Amino acid sequence: MQNLWNEFEAAEYQGDLQQRVYTSRLLGRDKTLVMHGGGNTSVKITAQNILGEEEELLYVKGSGWDLEFIEAAGFAPVRLAHLVRLAQLKELSDPAMVNELKTQMTSASAPTPSVEAILHAVLPFKYVDHTHSDAVIAITNTAAGEQRIREIYGDTVLIVPYVMPGFDLARMCADLVERYLTDKMIGMVLLNHGIFSFGATARESYGRMIDLVGRAEEYLRTRQAWDVTMPEPLEDVPAHVNDIVRLRDGISRAAGAPMILSTQCDAKSRAFARHPDVARLSRQGPATPDHVIRTKRVPMLGLDINGYSNEYKKYFDVNDKLSRVRKTMLDAAPRVVLDPALGMLTIGRTAKDAAIVRDIYDHTIDIILRATALGGYRALPEKDIFDVEYWDLEQAKLRGGGRPPVFTGEIVLITGAASGIGRACVDSFLARGAAVVALDINAAVATLLDRPDYCGLVCDVTDEASLQRALEQAVLRFGGLDMLVLNAGVFPQSCNIADLQYEEWWRVMNVNVDAGFSLLRLAYPILKLAPKGGRVVVIGSKNVPAPGPGAAAYSASKAALNQLARVAALEWGAERIRINTLHPNAVFDTGIWTPEVLETRARSYGLTVAEYKAKNVLKVEVTSRDVAELGAEMCGPLFAKTTGAQLPVDGGNERVI
Ligand code: ZN
Repeated sequence: MQNLWNEFEAAEYQGDLQQRVYTSRLLGRDKTLVMHGGGNTSVKITAQNILGEEEELLYVKGSGWDLEFIEAAGFAPVRLAHLVRLAQLKELSDPAMVNELKTQMTSASAPTPSVEAILHAVLPFKYVDHTHSDAVIAITNTAAGEQRIREIYGDTVLIVPYVMPGFDLARMCADLVERYLTDKMIGMVLLNHGIFSFGATARESYGRMIDLVGRAEEYLRTRQAWDVTMPEPLEDVPAHVNDIVRLRDGISRAAGAPMILSTQCDAKSRAFARHPDVARLSRQGPATPDHVIRTKRVPMLGLDINGYSNEYKKYFDVNDKLSRVRKTMLDAAPRVVLDPALGMLTIGRTAKDAAIVRDIYDHTIDIILRATALGGYRALPEKDIFDVEYWDLEQAKLRGGGRPPVFTGEIVLITGAASGIGRACVDSFLARGAAVVALDINAAVATLLDRPDYCGLVCDVTDEASLQRALEQAVLRFGGLDMLVLNAGVFPQSCNIADLQYEEWWRVMNVNVDAGFSLLRLAYPILKLAPKGGRVVVIGSKNVPAPGPGAAAYSASKAALNQLARVAALEWGAERIRINTLHPNAVFDTGIWTPEVLETRARSYGLTVAEYKAKNVLKVEVTSRDVAELGAEMCGPLFAKTTGAQLPVDGGNERVI
């Protein structure tokens, strides 16, 4: 545990709330303390209200904010006196509690206060920090957890048995604080949940958190439970792309929607998936209950999706009967898969969700192994996990965004994606929720975007082995392929047939036709298993219906590609794969339209460049974005019953009409 407090940095944060912002960010930087919206912090500040009266406010982390990037606006100001009185109620339902938290805020635009707000309020300290520290959880999640905590901290912390977060926990803490809090205490350990620290200043409270967690780590170290090694797997089993694609198909069915499957290729994940004791280690439950909404209670071992789903249904039925209010079952698909051959896969509705599951499970593995080294990992009973999984307030976190974008959970591969129409397609598909695999011979494609739903791969589309590798990458990274945009192409300099060299002819054919043929052929077995049916968009050209003089190789290649697409539409229709072609014309913001090419083409029509650009019926300029947006729509529900079609996107062309 490293104390990251820095005098110079801290000096930039003036005032109580800003200091709160600073040390919250310090906590957020350490992923062994908090991850993905976990943990929360607060500060109590006296302020004057609009009537000139002094009022004590609790500034507590708002939901939806990550500690690492929190700002002052991420803290919700709530009237402290009211919160303290609420803690004295015998009972308060979740919706009523949330209503109280919201209506007692003094800023209408502040985020909804954390559900742990009342707990923060009853702790009589100016600053309160709360994390779900890996080390502390590893220790509490053992048979003698409470005893070990006493051994480590003596009488410097208050120990709180597990109670579901929310009002009941706050009420219990209020009671324990009143009865047992002493001057010696600098924190509070919540068994199977996490740890609190408190202090008079932001620095003191943060420093105590680091100190307390540091002692937990030290305890693990001295008991040889810190650097835990796993047995080396005997041999490396290569991942089978087809198995992953089939698995995604099955999991998407179980989930009722297309899912992203991300294969974890790091040594730790692979070793854990093939651990001789993986069944016993992984089947006990999550490290802390709030992970359940991301990871489900247990991972799926092996590839029996029906078996997993049935078990999940049983778990739901048993625990639903024990609940006061009837719940609606969530999907029964796993979020973590551990398989000896495929290794570890993490699953989500989006690539971002799958990455969150990966982060959480990565820490879960550490916690399980360390607790095991201490004598045995022990998670909470099923019912406690169920209560959090089906807690309205947790469900609300997942529902947050409303209706998901149309391609959520789907994957598109786009060729020639570094510039022009291909680059515009990347944006159009990302905007509709798809994960994008972008291919280009230009190395810039690899670093075009830095986000979990983007994977840029340098690839020469005329090299079949490179295409094969790119598809494997797509499957490892996201689990499959639903859509394909055949966009990569070359547009050579104008040249009459009599002067056209054989090599040039074949070069154009190679990129514009052969590469399309290869990719279609290689992608077919994957597209066939796309949960909503495969879709292909071919970027053709106006030159197909209306060729131009001096463009023999280009026009012939695009016509051949077009015909290939039509035959594919016939052959693959029964397997729900739709293939449609767009015929753009005069899209000038693409890589192939260098000023020289533009000028030569214009001259061959006897026009100026300006005239040539506006040469269409509607007198409009067609941009890459226009083409990309239409291409994306052609993969959507509007075109669900269209295949083998050719659609011009050219502003209207007299020779085509
Ligand atoms: Zn918590």
